[in-house]
Amino acid sequence: MWYFSEEERQLADVCRDFANNELAPLAEKHDHEETFNMTAFKKMGELGLLGITADPKFGGSGLGATAATIVMEEFGKVCAGSTLSYLAHSMLCVNNISTNASEEQKEKYLPKLISGEHIGAMGMSEPGYGSDAVGMQCRAKADGDFYTINGNKMWITNAQYADVVYLYTRTGDNKKDLTTFIVDTKNLEGYSVSKEIHKMGMRSSPTGELTFENCKVPKEDRVGQEGDSVHHMMRNLEIERLTISGISLGIAQACVDQCIKYANEREQFGKTLGNFQLIQKMIAEMATEVEMMRTFLYDSCKLWDEGKVDNTRAAMVKLQLPKMATKIALDAIQLHGGYGYSREFPLERMMRDNKLNEIGAGTNEVMIMIIAKNLLKEASK
Ligand SMILES: Cc1cc2nc3c(=O)[nH]c(=O)nc-3n(C[C@H](O)[C@H](O)[C@H](O)COP(=O)(O)OP(=O)(O)OC[C@H]3O[C@@H](n4cnc5c(N)ncnc54)[C@H](O)[C@@H]3O)c2cc1C
Repeated sequence: MWYFSEEERQLADVCRDFANNELAPLAEKHDHEETFNMTAFKKMGELGLLGITADPKFGGSGLGATAATIVMEEFGKVCAGSTLSYLAHSMLCVNNISTNASEEQKEKYLPKLISGEHIGAMGMSEPGYGSDAVGMQCRAKADGDFYTINGNKMWITNAQYADVVYLYTRTGDNKKDLTTFIVDTKNLEGYSVSKEIHKMGMRSSPTGELTFENCKVPKEDRVGQEGDSVHHMMRNLEIERLTISGISLGIAQACVDQCIKYANEREQFGKTLGNFQLIQKMIAEMATEVEMMRTFLYDSCKLWDEGKVDNTRAAMVKLQLPKMATKIALDAIQLHGGYGYSREFPLERMMRDNKLNEIGAGTNEVMIMIIAKNLLKEASK
């Protein structure tokens, strides 16, 4: 793209090679077997991608939303499941620690998370509190030099492998009395992955439920002050929503590329599909939609890098990109006929994977609520 810097172009090339060599060959297998590509994850650490937005002082790359989204797009083209796990680690855990934790906490947790020695997760959602995350009931109670934590966290990406969980808890009875902890799960008594969750898509990304039963977490692992969490959540949401949309852009682009290839190869009625105007229309519209998505997304990432993206813009991106990518993936299946519906092509997997992006990091309906609320409030000032 014309506005990518030389450094960003190089990053895209490195990620594309990595995706094609390390993720693509095993994507179908891991989807089918519902297994995690641990080897590739560790190699992401060697490439310096696991701390893409973190301070170089702690081993990070010190880059912004544009760079992180480039990685998501390139990985998302071939294996959205591995990309979701990468996102949970690098954006939901590492970036949250980078943005909100103290220097001592960063020193303690970031180097191993960034090298890939440790795997990170983020625990916000609960069985009864998803869209209404602020209503969460997992409680932390101060107890001498520790906090005692009790409760459950649902839908946690990387749960089964997480060495570190960036955990939101309730510490008071007012709705916004929420407090974050960086939880070192190793040898933590009372902590367990209580359920492995089997899903429609993103099957190479492990998802589980976490249970905390009288878990004692040291006070020094509390992030900021008691009650700071709502502020922490809001600070990270924009980059989360932009980067998850990058996965959808990758999926949509891969669908278009595959459709063009197939339309030039597959013959019916003595001609390749690309000769039929109905097929041409599908390809032209899909490709145009992808270009719109790309421009909107990277324009927003550039603005984020300049400190100019707000909650409304990030929600608009997150509303539009995953929705368009689902439509494009369904059209791509249609264009491939029976082969598209079969597992011979990755299209059905891409459609299943992308559907998650309309739910995770806030559902389409929640994005609509945020956009409308902000616009109406702004206009009434
Ligand atoms: C594969 C996967 C990975 C995930 N990873 C993580 C993770 O790592 N960490 C984490 O904390 N969470 C994670 N999540 C949780 C995710 O963020 C939630 O699923 C999401 O926020 C929606 O919450 P819910 O599933 O409880 O749905 P609900 O909130 O119960 O919503 C159900 C439906 O009601 C709609 N709805 C809700 N409220 C309103 C309203 N006021 N007006 C109109 N419609 C409404 C929703 O849009 C949705 O369609 C993950 C989820 C999945 C499926």
